Amino acid sequence: MPNKSRISDLAIFGGHPAFADKLHVGRPNIGDRRAFADRMDDILDRRWLTNAGPFVQEFESRVAELAQVRHCIAMCNATIALEIAIRALELKGEVIVPSFTFVATAHALEWQGITPVFCDIDPRTHNIDPAKIEGLITERTTAIIGVHLWGRACNIEALARLAKRHSLRLLFDAAHAFGCSYSGEMVGGFGEAEVFSFHGTKFVNTFEGGAVVTNDDELAERVRLMKNFGFAGYDRVVYVGTNGKMSELSAAMGLTNLESLDKFVAINRENYRVYYQELSNLKGIKFTSYDEGERCNYQYISLEIDETQTGISRDELMEILWAENVLVRRYFYPGCHRMKPYADRPIGPLPETDRVARSILVLPNGTTVTLEDVRTICNLIKFALENGESVLSALRREKMTIGSPGASV
Ligand SMILES: *Cc1c(COP(=O)(O)O)cnc(C)c1O
Repeated sequence: MPNKSRISDLAIFGGHPAFADKLHVGRPNIGDRRAFADRMDDILDRRWLTNAGPFVQEFESRVAELAQVRHCIAMCNATIALEIAIRALELKGEVIVPSFTFVATAHALEWQGITPVFCDIDPRTHNIDPAKIEGLITERTTAIIGVHLWGRACNIEALARLAKRHSLRLLFDAAHAFGCSYSGEMVGGFGEAEVFSFHGTKFVNTFEGGAVVTNDDELAERVRLMKNFGFAGYDRVVYVGTNGKMSELSAAMGLTNLESLDKFVAINRENYRVYYQELSNLKGIKFTSYDEGERCNYQYISLEIDETQTGISRDELMEILWAENVLVRRYFYPGCHRMKPYADRPIGPLPETDRVARSILVLPNGTTVTLEDVRTICNLIKFALENGESVLSALRREKMTIGSPGASV
């Protein structure tokens, strides 16, 4: 695809889209399909489809090993894993969480009659701001849930100190952070427990899947019981539980993908490097960078667009890119506190969450995105920003003509 030279070359103004096929954020990373097919045959030969089968057991030990943690309990998805971890920790009343996260973090509490209390984020990290937590603690508060957004670990040290001082439990939604480290230690063993997601869009997927990881033997035992209806043996139920089991097919996918983990990271990282080179110095763009001293999966490429400097708003840039078939996303706009049912409640001001949610844009990455794709995306963004004023006036002219009869552009 030749570079765009005039603004009429942009697809939004009638030019050819830069990509013939849609580029998605979170297109699945898939390992060796022969290896997966062989495992699928094994499952069918064994006729052991679920209930702690050999692949689930193997997947659990591989995940525990990679995350350097004693226990991994694999589950059907991370939302159920969060719900079970919350229940096994006997949380109640109010739990402090960031609003700038996928809505499942808040829903996992609300679903069980626990009130999520939203805390603002640190604008430098996009993670929960430890300095804003104390003001939210009441006599009903039982825990803090940190989210390692984009795979960049929370300020775990500060959160652990706060939790200790106020006798609160500490749990981490590590849905983004499989394969990432904090101060050189793998994410997985921090707080009382951490929860990974292996959803199709995540760095490592099991189609749908998740896991609770923890170093607490008793907690692990409770979680294991709860995800299997509370069964402690044949005909012996010792707990109220639910069905959170991972199937053998999912574990087969997980094991296959784990074999390609290093390759996934290498591709993500190369793409990240080019995105960083091309975009991090642009005026009005704040590029979310990763600490080279830590392990990271480099799955998320996110930018903040400061409209006062770029001229073009985040949403306008998004429209331009969508027309080019680059389906960038506004994660996690508008923030949980602006979604139902939370939006109906009196919730304190979250200025940083609101600002980041208004300016964030997540770009495609993963093993299906080539370096050439990355360069094309970067060129589109640079072109739109460099020609900001004329792009804007053309966009606004186009909007005005829409709906006026007989108008043509
Ligand atoms: C994806 C995600 C979840 C939910 O994971 P599922 O496996 O889809 O249930 C929870 N929290 C965050 C931050 C996520 O990104």
